[in-house]
Amino acid sequence: MPPSSAQPTLSSVGEFRIIAGLARRFGHTNQAILRGIGDDAAVVRSAASERLLASTDLLTEGIHFDLAYTSFYALGYRAAVANLSDIAAMGGLPRYFLVAVAAPPFRTQSELEALYRGMMRAGRPFGIRLIGGDTSASCRDLCLCPTVLGTVEPTHVMYRSGARQGDYLYVTGTLGDSLAGFQILRRTAGKDSPGDRGSHRALKPHERHLIKRHLFPTPRIPEGRLFSTRRLATAAIDISDGLAGDLGHLTEQSGVGAELEASTIPISPALRKYAAERGLDAVEVALTGGEDYELLVAVPPRQAARLERLATQRGHTCTRIGIIRSKRFGLRLRDEHGKSRRVKSHSYQHFTMNGKDHSELWCSR
Ligand code: ADP
Ligand code: MG
Repeated sequence: MPPSSAQPTLSSVGEFRIIAGLARRFGHTNQAILRGIGDDAAVVRSAASERLLASTDLLTEGIHFDLAYTSFYALGYRAAVANLSDIAAMGGLPRYFLVAVAAPPFRTQSELEALYRGMMRAGRPFGIRLIGGDTSASCRDLCLCPTVLGTVEPTHVMYRSGARQGDYLYVTGTLGDSLAGFQILRRTAGKDSPGDRGSHRALKPHERHLIKRHLFPTPRIPEGRLFSTRRLATAAIDISDGLAGDLGHLTEQSGVGAELEASTIPISPALRKYAAERGLDAVEVALTGGEDYELLVAVPPRQAARLERLATQRGHTCTRIGIIRSKRFGLRLRDEHGKSRRVKSHSYQHFTMNGKDHSELWCSR
């Protein structure tokens, strides 16, 4: 039955309100569900000594990826990392994948196998096993939906909601690389072979680096485990929507505000070079660029020195970029001249592009 015109369409509601509505109506929890809808992964009581973590992330052709820019292997890899990253953000260890896939009939078995090779390669350092899934034909587009199951010790789980005023904000790795890599891929699509080893030879080394960061992001499981097992963080989230958007999620759920220091936001030399060449503001790319899959954590000041020492010992890059403020303070960024401005916490929202002033950057999504 076609929807009646009186009913609001998904595009008029937007992804976040859709999820909030589903959560209110259908997402009732019970004693075993320690966290249902609303964090990076659900947390469920399983055994006395551990919690079960579960998360799923759907990738749709034409929305999340374009096979003109990415190989099946790279697509599988990135889809797996998107899921692994949610387990990292909860402080857990990933254990199992279930993978649902829908593909049009003209796709080949070797393409599907390349997709799985990419996924399993991303999970290999953590000993991930594939334990199930579902396979279906689709009319036209490829849809890939991995689910990851993980575990975490009951006292070590990190939520988005624990940040307290005065906590420092730390972030792993560098930010904005993935968006820049995606832009380069889009610009050069068709001029080179899509996405794996040996391709993109015509590009400059810093451009190849950014593309690699987009296609093969690093799941920050070891970093997440450091934060959780040493009880260093009060809150954590992975950066899938961009620093501004995900900081917005973390502060909203913690009932706080935050202040970022622009000059401390970690930006790779490759992104600096790229931004200079294209006349872009690298900090803005880092704030708004999604799919970096780095971790953002809130850390009490008394734990800061310990965190920095342990991170250095383990070779993790972990940078202090700001501080948690009161809710009234909102979200603000202090630039290198000490001038403060409000940060808009916009995330990419499916079904609606409202409020996106950089929507052009994401036109393939
Ligand atoms: P992330 O950015 O970590 O992938 P999302 O923004 O996709 O998180 O999802 C936020 C929360 O909403 C998560 O807890 C997720 O499991 C839940 N969620 C998203 N879509 C649905 C849905 N269609 N039904 C039930 N829960 C959903
Ligand atoms: Mg997440």
